[in-house]
Amino acid sequence: MIMNDVQTSVAIVGAGPTGLLLAGDLAQAGVDVTVLERRDTESNLTRAFGVHARTLEHLDARGLADELLGEGAQVAGLSLFDHIRIDLSRMPTRFPFLLITPQYNVEQVLEKRASAAGARIVRGADVTGVRQDADGVELTVGGATVRAAYAVGADGVHSAVRSALGLPFPGKSVLTSIMLADVRLAQPPPDVLAVNAVGDAFAFVAPFGDGWHRIFAWDRRHPLPDTAPVTLDEIRDVTRRSLGTDFGLQEARWMSRFHSDERQAPHYRVGRVFLAGDAAHVHSPAGGQGMNTGLQDAANLGWKLAATVQGRAPSGLLDTYEGERHPVGKLVLRSSGMIIRMAMVRSRVGRLARNAVGGVALRLPPVARKAAGTLSGIGIDYPHAPRAADVALLDGRRLYEVLRDGEYVLIAPAAAESQLRGGLVLAPPADPATPWTLVRPDAHVAWRGAPAGLAAALDRAGLAG
Ligand SMILES: Cc1cc2nc3c(=O)[nH]c(=O)nc-3n(C[C@H](O)[C@H](O)[C@H](O)COP(=O)(O)OP(=O)(O)OC[C@H]3O[C@@H](n4cnc5c(N)ncnc54)[C@H](O)[C@@H]3O)c2cc1C
Repeated sequence: MIMNDVQTSVAIVGAGPTGLLLAGDLAQAGVDVTVLERRDTESNLTRAFGVHARTLEHLDARGLADELLGEGAQVAGLSLFDHIRIDLSRMPTRFPFLLITPQYNVEQVLEKRASAAGARIVRGADVTGVRQDADGVELTVGGATVRAAYAVGADGVHSAVRSALGLPFPGKSVLTSIMLADVRLAQPPPDVLAVNAVGDAFAFVAPFGDGWHRIFAWDRRHPLPDTAPVTLDEIRDVTRRSLGTDFGLQEARWMSRFHSDERQAPHYRVGRVFLAGDAAHVHSPAGGQGMNTGLQDAANLGWKLAATVQGRAPSGLLDTYEGERHPVGKLVLRSSGMIIRMAMVRSRVGRLARNAVGGVALRLPPVARKAAGTLSGIGIDYPHAPRAADVALLDGRRLYEVLRDGEYVLIAPAAAESQLRGGLVLAPPADPATPWTLVRPDAHVAWRGAPAGLAAALDRAGLAG
């Protein structure tokens, strides 16, 4: 691709799920945004396949969740190591399940929205250099230069942006030679995701809902390089050893072997450049957190960048991106790492202890709630901004429908109208006992309290009088 020099407000490197959600949010807010993507074509690689409840809530707040729900299967629970069951069906959300749908479906929905909102998506644009000064960022793409006020590296695990910033990516490899396959099964497992590990092997099966299933299989006895071909027999063997059956595995449309690292950049921001998604953190696929965490990074960053570019952000707002998202990345590394380490317990006694302790613990309601909350993202609050639950409104709509405007929302009676300011939408609740609540554009609570505290909360949010 031959590209001319470009001037834009925000340049995003990478049109994966993270970059596409961010581009859509910025464009929708009226920000001039350019996405630079190395690939010439859209990806048809499945990679991630689970969309968790908190991500679905974020998609709902953009009017995209219902479209995606039509494309996948809903799974109400996760069955770990024979005796441990994580029940997602009781979570306090409109989406008490894990949606199984291929990553490319999520990307398509996000790309359609970003393009419709006016984001410029340039394919065949390989970013090779990033320089910044006090006024802006300059990215090198072939012989052309893209000049932006801000840039975001959403360019995946081998991020060129992260390298150009000189940021390390400390961590380690946790699993090598993981086999992935999308297969047809003659006798598929029941509705839950099935995972088991028997010392030398573990396997995991999840339904896409269209007759295809995703299998993960790992065999400690046969570590091979990522480039070694995968055979159906190898997958059958590991699945049988782990789960007691190969579910009548018939054919595969795609098979791959990869390794998995646990790494996190120490900072998500250097000056005018940010990192999000896999560029900022990677971990094992256990728990299906990768794409979800990236999408949630983007949901946190988009409205903050838009407010800054448009000159309406309170001072320090952009710093809260790293402050809020870095600890979440750390938590996700810890929780997905814990599942992997549990799966890799080798001795029989260790496995019995894991199954017994895990099984009993998850029958305790607080432990079960915490496990489902962490896995689904529903339980992830920021220290000064807990997740906003959906609320039924007086006019028959829900809070998450009003959030589609991309503005702050004030949940308060109609009489609060006199206190409205620019960038704030009033949403009277169906239940008059609902406390006054100021909800950020990313569906986190900025403030909740007595009406007398509202003006100060609006000032803190940078909402002009
Ligand atoms: C084999 C495999 C299996 C996986 N399975 C799961 C799973 O089961 N569950 C799960 O949650 N996650 C899984 N993941 C992880 C998940 O796919 C990622 O977390 C997710 O794709 C991250 O999205 P992203 O947008 O941050 O980065 P990516 O999806 O990696 O997108 C980055 C984009 O940046 C582009 N790019 C890179 N460098 C440049 C450059 N210099 N210039 C321009 N463009 C550039 C790339 O072409 C790419 O399109 C898997 C990953 C792999 C590799």
